[in-house]
Parts: sequence; C-alpha cells; structure tokens
Amino acid sequence: MHPALFYRYLDESGGQCLLCQRRCKIAPGKSGYCGTRKNLDGKLFSLTYGRVASMRISPIEIKPLFHFYPGSRWLSMGSLGCNFLCPGCQNWEIAHADVEKELPSLRFVPPGEAVRLAREGRCKGISWTYNEPTLWFEYTLDSARMAREAGLLTNYVTNAYLTVEALDLLGPCLNAFRADLKGFSDETYKRMANIDGFGGILKILARAKNFWGMHVEIVTNLIPGMNDQEVELKGMARWICDCLGAETPWHVTRFFPCFKLAHLRPTSITKLERTREIGLEVGLKYVYLGNVPGHPSENTYCPDCGQLLIERLNYQVLQDHLDGTCCGYCGHSIAGYF
Ligand code: SF4
Repeated sequence: MHPALFYRYLDESGGQCLLCQRRCKIAPGKSGYCGTRKNLDGKLFSLTYGRVASMRISPIEIKPLFHFYPGSRWLSMGSLGCNFLCPGCQNWEIAHADVEKELPSLRFVPPGEAVRLAREGRCKGISWTYNEPTLWFEYTLDSARMAREAGLLTNYVTNAYLTVEALDLLGPCLNAFRADLKGFSDETYKRMANIDGFGGILKILARAKNFWGMHVEIVTNLIPGMNDQEVELKGMARWICDCLGAETPWHVTRFFPCFKLAHLRPTSITKLERTREIGLEVGLKYVYLGNVPGHPSENTYCPDCGQLLIERLNYQVLQDHLDGTCCGYCGHSIAGYF
C-alpha cells in the first residue's frame, strides 16, 4: 500500500481519483474502476506500487518504438489492472485480473532495484508496459526520477488516458511515449475501450509531444468491423500529421482474435496496406505495419531518396544504413533518436 497522488476528498461518502480521465468517485472501502486504487478511511492508496506481474529485458522494437535508439535493450515492467475495457485486449490476463486477489503472488521490486536491474542488464532504460503504466503512477514516477539520476532513459507504453495534471508531474522525467490511438470518434472509443469521449486523449498526446518534448510514436491496432472505417482512419492520420508532425511514426498493427473478440478474423493484409497508403497520402513520412513478420513495411525507408535504412525482422534490426541521425545515402535528416 502506498499513498496515492491525485486524490481529492469530497465528503464522508468518498473522494475522487484524478489520476486518469475516468475521475472515479470512490466510497470508503471501495476501489476505482481499474481496481488498483482504494479508499481506506478517507484516503486513497495505490495497491500496486512496485508490484510486478511481468518483467523482462526486451528490444525497443517490440514496444514498438522504431525511431528511438533502434536495437537498444530495455528493462520492461508491468503490473496489474487497466482503466479501459477493450474487447480485443491482448494482455487481458493481467489487465483484467482480480487485483487484490493476485497481489500476494506478485514480486515487489523497489524503484532502486529496477534501476539496478536495468544497469546490470546493459539496458538503455526502463519501459513501463504490458498493462497501463498510469495505474502505478507513483511507482513509475519514483523510478523515472531515479533512472534519470542513473543516466537511464524511460518510456511509457500507454493508452494516454491520464489527466493533464498527472502528465505534467511525469513530463520532466519521461523520455518517450508510445501511445495507442484506437479510433477517431467518441463512438469508436466507446466500442473499443468503454470510455466516454476521446478528446482528452488527443490533448495528452499533443502535450506530451509539443509541451514536454517527448519522443512520441502512435499505434493503431486495426480490428475488423471495430475501428477500420476509412473515414476515421483518414481523420486519425490527418490529426497525427497536423498536430504531432509529419515525421511522427504511425504503426498500424494486425489484430489476432483474442479475449471477447475471439470470433473475429485477423486483419487482412490488404486492409493494413490500404491504411498505410492513407497515412502516406496525408503526408506522414513513416507509416509501419506491425504483426506481419517479413513485410517490407516493417522497415524504415528514407523519405527523401527512398533507400532502405533499417531492415527489421521479428523485432530485430538486421541492417542499419544510417549515418548518425541521417540517411547514409543522401544525408536527409531522419526524425527520432538514433
Ligand atoms: S486511475 Fe483507476 S481509480 Fe483513478 S480515475 Fe482512473 S480508473 Fe478510476
């Protein structure tokens, strides 16, 4: 149990959690929607501080982050719980676990130990991933501050549904933001994540990039019949281009049936390729396909001369033809950190 940030006392009937945009009102003895924050005697506590459900060293490509130190190793950590309810969740065993029941079986890894493990593992930094990292915010904040002092970098693999206040506390010590954009209408977000309104997510993405200067890459997992309407995909691509910049990488990934959408078919390759075309047509320079091993659109090409710069297969970098941060053929500057 760790005291939670972003809580306001309302009255004896409860308080309100202001960590994410659900802004749950929580009565004494109860937890919020995500199951990770509990009101005990009028005070809010984080149940999952340092409680690790998954931890391994993995390449940055698996996040995916393609323009942020390609080929680097990251200590990747996740806990339990989620503030979304996505019917096609790939990590539903941890995202929708019974948090209080599972807690005793989880390993406790204090922030200092996470930093030590990252350094011993020759990692570039720490990635909070697998479940929504916002939900163990206090832990990631303490760890990010220590990581920065130790010369390590950090990233969030997130649904970007945290509040502006939370982002602004983390902003000075978070380097990269790999965020989902699941749709481009309130209706789609309701269907995809069970939330009311997605405008706040766009605000967070723009603020992470344009105010805090984080490196931002966007992922859209394309689910047949759920979020693959061309008009929304065009709107999404245009928004990324206009508000985050034409050089923002957009990863369009293939859905495989699971959880409550086990009856659907995997996304067709044709649909993925058409979506990539939409992104390129609106002006995005780096649109990748994911979960399609061996597809040429997993590679990075120079947007100026068209040469292959980074070849990838199964999250490994096979070839790298960059010259520092520039194309090794024509010298064009490539966006990101290399
Ligand atoms: S973090 Fe959890 S408890 Fe807090 S507002 Fe979001 S869903 Fe509710």
